[in-house]
Amino acid sequence: MHPLYQQMATSVFERMSLAAAKHGAVNLGQGFPDFGWPPEILDAAARAVIEGSNQYAPSRGLPALREAVAAHYSRHQGLDLGAENICVTSGATEALAAAILATVSPGDEVIIFTPAYDAYAPLIRRAGGTPVEVPLQPPGWRIERAALEAAVSLETRAIIFNNPHNPTGRLFDLDELATLAEVAVANDLIVISDEVWEHILLDGQRFTPVASLAGMPERTLKCGSAGKIFSLTGWKIGWLAASTELATLAARAHQFLTFASAPNLQAAVAYGMNDGDAWLQPMRDRFARARDRMTQGLEAAGFAVLPSASTYFLCVDLAASGISLDDEAFAAQAVAQAGVAVVPLSAFAERDPPKHMIRLCFAKRDETIDAGVEAMAKARNLMT
Ligand code: PMP
Ligand code: GLN
Repeated sequence: MHPLYQQMATSVFERMSLAAAKHGAVNLGQGFPDFGWPPEILDAAARAVIEGSNQYAPSRGLPALREAVAAHYSRHQGLDLGAENICVTSGATEALAAAILATVSPGDEVIIFTPAYDAYAPLIRRAGGTPVEVPLQPPGWRIERAALEAAVSLETRAIIFNNPHNPTGRLFDLDELATLAEVAVANDLIVISDEVWEHILLDGQRFTPVASLAGMPERTLKCGSAGKIFSLTGWKIGWLAASTELATLAARAHQFLTFASAPNLQAAVAYGMNDGDAWLQPMRDRFARARDRMTQGLEAAGFAVLPSASTYFLCVDLAASGISLDDEAFAAQAVAQAGVAVVPLSAFAERDPPKHMIRLCFAKRDETIDAGVEAMAKARNLMT
């Protein structure tokens, strides 16, 4: 048995969703919306199941989807991409795995900013590398040049960057992006840029992809996810966008991870990516309203809510809310005794993580938010 898997705990998302099911709790833990998927894309998928191919897709993805993804990024982000720059994967999770396996060799160090998405460190280790954590400090969660530079060594091979950022809901600013790019170029590093939340931007913010920065197109592997773009997280259709050379390397890793993803879902996502962008702003407005409703409800119940302007998530500071329990203890009691599942933030770092914060998913219908807030108020009464 591989020692890595013997040490590893079950993913916090799975853990909290199982606990929510067991206790019949409102699930504000794992990040998925309970509304918002476009019905025409579901129809396109149904048609593709009945009328389209149900046999292996080309390993790098249906040409129609690769072209649609490239065109989408040219249109929205000014990136100069063609089908040769895209490799379709089974979710961004597989895109991350392929990018890491293709670029990280045993002995390499890979920098991650914590709190970091839970898949990064185990995948780096499985590729034989060592994750090097650069902690972002609450409440600003800023990338500081000195901290990043201090983490770079002769062994550093790559930086995994996530913008907009899960779990904090922060969009990094242009100064921070410039710092990242300058450090990457100065040290000849690959950047695996996890941009799955690129369209979930609230409050009129604008997204800048890492690959658009000076010196970055040839060293960036961008990860995207249709799950986030179309509120279809269960479909697990994602992709990598990179230089032809890096995309080809990652595609070689991908062919031995899953080889290819469901052709009908790929066809439906291609349909969605080509179907105009009229859905985008209404989706953002709807998520912003959900965030505001949850924030107001939690604040009225006495919780200290940190600002969030992207992703499906907001964070609550337990200590500032008058709760002295740590995040894991709060999460365990909240799901079992108050009927609400949340995610403890300490699951997103290994080295001295802050233990006084939890993450909640606000991408929910009003009634789910109201039930979740009521259960959070109950949890606060039980634990203060
Ligand atoms: N990276 C980040 C930062 C995420 O938040 C998620 C999913 N929430 C993923 C990767 C995985 O995406 P997918 O579900 O497409 O595999
Ligand atoms: N990315 C989702 C989240 O942050 C969960 C994905 C998963 O369950 N692996 O909640």
